Amino acid sequence: MPKVYNWQIGREMDYPFEGQRPRRQAAAVFDTNKCIACQTCTMACKTTWTSGKGQEYMFWNNVETKPWGSYPLAWDVRILERLGPQTWEGGVYRGKTVFEAAPAGERALGYLPEDLDYAYPNRGEDETNAPLTEERFYLRLPHDLWFFYLPRICNHCTYPACLASCPRTAIYKRPEDGIVLLDQQRCRGYRECLKECPFKKVFYNHTTRVSEKCVLCFPAVERGIQPRCMRTCIGKIRTFGFVSTPDRARPDNPVDFLVHVRKVALPLLPQLGLEANVYYIPPVHVGNLRFLQMLFGPGVEQAAATYRRAMEGKDEELRGVLLLAVSTDRIVHRFRVARGLVYGYDDRGEEVVRVPLKEPTMVRPAYDPDHRAYRYNVT
Ligand code: SF4
Ligand code: SF4
Repeated sequence: MPKVYNWQIGREMDYPFEGQRPRRQAAAVFDTNKCIACQTCTMACKTTWTSGKGQEYMFWNNVETKPWGSYPLAWDVRILERLGPQTWEGGVYRGKTVFEAAPAGERALGYLPEDLDYAYPNRGEDETNAPLTEERFYLRLPHDLWFFYLPRICNHCTYPACLASCPRTAIYKRPEDGIVLLDQQRCRGYRECLKECPFKKVFYNHTTRVSEKCVLCFPAVERGIQPRCMRTCIGKIRTFGFVSTPDRARPDNPVDFLVHVRKVALPLLPQLGLEANVYYIPPVHVGNLRFLQMLFGPGVEQAAATYRRAMEGKDEELRGVLLLAVSTDRIVHRFRVARGLVYGYDDRGEEVVRVPLKEPTMVRPAYDPDHRAYRYNVT
């Protein structure tokens, strides 16, 4: 098998094809500290792309409660159990990736979910990691008792297992932006991609008998507009743009800044070896570091410390980038923080948005002499 370099695991690894990176790679950063599980993103996607026959159970975007939530059922536990020991030495992963652990005759390690695994799209919602006891009653930081929300879409991986597994070469990665698409004309419904995508982000349509997946709203992206799930996000947790490899990171690119410069955004399950391109700012209130490291790799502690500094007002640039999230429908390619404002620019260098680092607060006097009335709300 050819060797490719995967920077997320700090080493070369086996992949069925020669590594060929796209000219630029579409990517997103999700801040788990801000997600409120309103599911607006889920419904925005559902009403745009998957409201047809045979798509009833499909959620290209879903939001699950961790640690117990999952869709399809236990997708993460099942693949991690199969993968075996997952050890890191510093930033280098020493275990096997899904490609290196592939059984004979297969391209990647995987399993095919059953129909019933899709029966409960929001299973485990708001369930905490452990039962409430007297010791756990007190509010401490990080918390003993916790849960957090994990919004998930296809990761438009640099080394997609779905693409590697398809016997019809129906899945391809666009060289212009790295979006992974499935050609439904070529697909014959073998479901190898469902089996081998460890994130379970390919879905089989029982009516048309072909598979389907997230298209990252490519018609919008081509016009410089963010995908629907990003621009409808109520919690403003989503930063959409393009990510570089670490050696080419640009500090004024919002995604590069979060991923490579501040290293506050981490890939989901990097040990699988797909170089997933949705990054997560880990939740800072969660007390179980080992759980977070299993999910986001070894950079969790440092990411949480960096994030806390920004929240304490000690990192204006990081705060600025985070405030840009979902502040415009346009894709922000470059940002700048100056004089209490953060500015966002498109790919032609034109300003598309500016946001104050601190919202102005006005305190009104409690007594309004014009109306000879007292106000209850004075802020
Ligand atoms: S998340 Fe799954 S469906 Fe999406 S590109 Fe990666 S392997 Fe393919
Ligand atoms: S719209 Fe945003 S805040 Fe709401 S569930 Fe989706 S990611 Fe979370």
